[in-house]
Amino acid sequence: MTSVSLHNTSTKTKDTLTPSSDGIFRVYCCGPTVYAAAHIGNFRTFLLQDVLRRVLEMSGYHVRWVRNLTDIDDKTIRGAQQQQIPLKEFTQHWIDVFHEDCQKLQIRTPEVEPRATEHIDDQIRWIEKLIRHGFAYAVADGSVYYRIASFPRYGQLSCLASHNLLPAQAKNITGDADEYDRDNIHDFALWKSRKAEDGECYWNSPWGQGRPGWHIECSVMAMRYLGETLDLHGGGIDLCFPHHENEIAQSEAITQKCFSKHWFHSAHLMVDGQKMSKSLGNLYTLQELQDQDYSPMAIRYALIAGHYRQPLNFTLQSLSTATSALQKLAKVQKQLQVIATTEAIPPMTHDNISEKTSASPLTNAWKALREDLNIPQCLGIIFTETSPSALRTLSPTEAYRLLHDFKGIVLGVLGLTLPEVDTDRRNATIIPEQIQELAEQRLTAKRQKLFDKADQLREQIHSMGWRIIDHPDGFTLEKDHS
Ligand code: AMP
Ligand code: ZN
Repeated sequence: MTSVSLHNTSTKTKDTLTPSSDGIFRVYCCGPTVYAAAHIGNFRTFLLQDVLRRVLEMSGYHVRWVRNLTDIDDKTIRGAQQQQIPLKEFTQHWIDVFHEDCQKLQIRTPEVEPRATEHIDDQIRWIEKLIRHGFAYAVADGSVYYRIASFPRYGQLSCLASHNLLPAQAKNITGDADEYDRDNIHDFALWKSRKAEDGECYWNSPWGQGRPGWHIECSVMAMRYLGETLDLHGGGIDLCFPHHENEIAQSEAITQKCFSKHWFHSAHLMVDGQKMSKSLGNLYTLQELQDQDYSPMAIRYALIAGHYRQPLNFTLQSLSTATSALQKLAKVQKQLQVIATTEAIPPMTHDNISEKTSASPLTNAWKALREDLNIPQCLGIIFTETSPSALRTLSPTEAYRLLHDFKGIVLGVLGLTLPEVDTDRRNATIIPEQIQELAEQRLTAKRQKLFDKADQLREQIHSMGWRIIDHPDGFTLEKDHS
């Protein structure tokens, strides 16, 4: 096994990821709330987690991967009520859409994908334990709250001391005006008593009819499938507080063990300086972008290309850039195949990755992924090491080796499928950067239906001696010899 390191929100340092003593590396990621199509911001997080999983597996870790489906909360209930259909039917539709999107984006399926509604008994039992041990209390309306004053470590993950929580932050904890019975404004709901607007979405419990709060579901399902201590827990940075703080408080209060050794939080996908979110309405779904002719692979590329600890600003231009990057990579693959003069390249595994057989040009690209999941650095190295001038000097054996690592990293670990390239154009002349940029701007204009602008750009490119050939995945550029 080759080690992988990653920034840990808990220790605030870059830590080596170590499996449990039985050799298994246990991961829990917070999954989607299934009341609408996930937006590409959500997918940024799920895609980065997917690349991490592939890095771990390629490094020889035995990974157990669990990602839940949040199928009960205010939003799923409201959606089912509005459509006047049972909750299960409502959420199943959005679960199917989520699965289809994941498949298109080549996000691998978790080994276990538990649904909150299928673990209500476990959640009730855990809440009973919390009450018994003095960490939770029921109030007159039949709701149950976690008493955060009973858990002195509360706030350590997100560096918030519980007594320092500001009223505004406290509001964030529940956002529920009905919760007026709490001992302390910061206490959060473990069980919410049934309200008229919940309709038939309720379960019986020792405290009357109601439903679990959002936070308890993750603690209970994570421990149900992975045991009391996880090796890594992941989610978008917005989940660090309060969701993950609450998960730690609920779990560790009872187990007295570390709930997760490593916390992996990824930064947001932004639009004009604001987080992409359903509530702001500044979102794109995968389907909307596909309707504008962007391929799922270009979307995958654009969403993983930035460093996971940096917010990523989303633009349509970034998808056009991703489309050309994929074409460049496809061309490189073809050229390497031609130089290597064989198609029979064995798949890369952690046993035959080039590092073991001494340095290859992509050793550092692979290393960048294993050191804090540095995807932009990895891509930078790949493009440099496969530039036209670098390829020109390769012997067939070197090309064979490079192609092996290239496929392992680009296809296997980054999870990209490259577009077909026309073999006749494999040795096409190098395209000047300015022409490439103008062609990308034209593609964006075309997709935004700014056809006049697109035509002007085509003319400009033509006047500079190049021709654009459009195809469904984007375009190719050819020197105009006419
Ligand atoms: P939700 O469906 O809202 O429960 O979110 C599912 C996942 O998407 C969580 O890990 C969130 O932290 C993450 N997420 C939500 N919005 C964004 C965004 N704009 N960029 C990246 N991740 C996000
Ligand atoms: Zn969660």
